[in-house]
Amino acid sequence: MAIGLLSVAAVLCLRYPGWLSTPELRAYYSAYLDLLRLVLAVAMVAGVFLAVISLCLNRRKHQGAIGLSAILFATLLGGPYAPLPEFTQPSAYLGLDWLVLDLFFTGAAFIALERVFPRVVAKQPILRPEWQLDLLYFGVNHLLIGAFLLASTHFAHGLFGWAVSPWLQAEVAALPAILRFVLVILAADLVEYVSHRAYHEVPFLWRLHAVHHSPHHMDWLSGSRLHLGEILATRSLILVPIFLLGFPQDTIFAYIIFVSVQSVVIHSNLALHLGQLRYVLVTPQFHHWHHASDAEALDRNYCAHTPIFDLLFGTFHLPAKRWPKTYGTVKPIPGGFLAQFSYPFTGRAPTATYGSQPGADSD
Ligand SMILES: [Zn+2]
Repeated sequence: MAIGLLSVAAVLCLRYPGWLSTPELRAYYSAYLDLLRLVLAVAMVAGVFLAVISLCLNRRKHQGAIGLSAILFATLLGGPYAPLPEFTQPSAYLGLDWLVLDLFFTGAAFIALERVFPRVVAKQPILRPEWQLDLLYFGVNHLLIGAFLLASTHFAHGLFGWAVSPWLQAEVAALPAILRFVLVILAADLVEYVSHRAYHEVPFLWRLHAVHHSPHHMDWLSGSRLHLGEILATRSLILVPIFLLGFPQDTIFAYIIFVSVQSVVIHSNLALHLGQLRYVLVTPQFHHWHHASDAEALDRNYCAHTPIFDLLFGTFHLPAKRWPKTYGTVKPIPGGFLAQFSYPFTGRAPTATYGSQPGADSD
């Protein structure tokens, strides 16, 4: 079913590239268009094969039927060889291509990695409870990437344009590439530390951030559960030092790749032990403790890239080989997408509790 729906999305991107594709990705399409079409063709054939098997074996019949119908619909739209029209880029667009590519490759990679490496929760299935909600967050966040970029860039340029120092930017540009990379990570992580701590300590901000802490299961998908307001605010703030220090494109590109991979890895269900590297890099174990509802770990481990600011400010918590027992908010928050969207403004929590430890207000 998933392959069928992804195929429809991919064919729609081919037919309506102006509205549905991400400008940053488009440069690669002209170079790899034939390869992308071939991958889509192979995926569609595999999708038909899997759907027919599930129908024949009487297993998950309705999912097989939806998958088959989706692939038929994708074929009617032109399939992998749908024509790519000439287009001009409208200012508003949806990152449907980014959603399809990221979901396909990240999903495939982590489902495979969780089979190869030891898992934190050994018996956690791929389709664990609330996977549909996190998939919805994944989809919405990817589709709105254009709006987030536009808003956060306007915020950084509009409010902090006056603070740009050509001298400072020239000094940064003259640094060796590796030092620029370290500097962008440290600058972003300092903003991350301060803003993340504020999310935990200011009641309204905590309700916004509690959405991200609400999953009771950690995996590659659970980190996507973020309130839209938090994404917009955090990205805008992180863009400020990046904008002021004037990092060149190659540093920003390296930073985006690093952050995209690390943010998925640290939420994943992979029980990776990285030895002394855990004092240099934020690891899955470090960030799992941040999501723990175990009393020993509440309000700890705020850093996103390197634990240095947690070490400096005394909020570092990383027992040698232990992992948390429970995850999620201590006080329960609502369960659906719309209820979670309005939760920071209404503060209305459900009456039925599914949190593990009533009492504390944050984790
Ligand atoms: Zn947090």
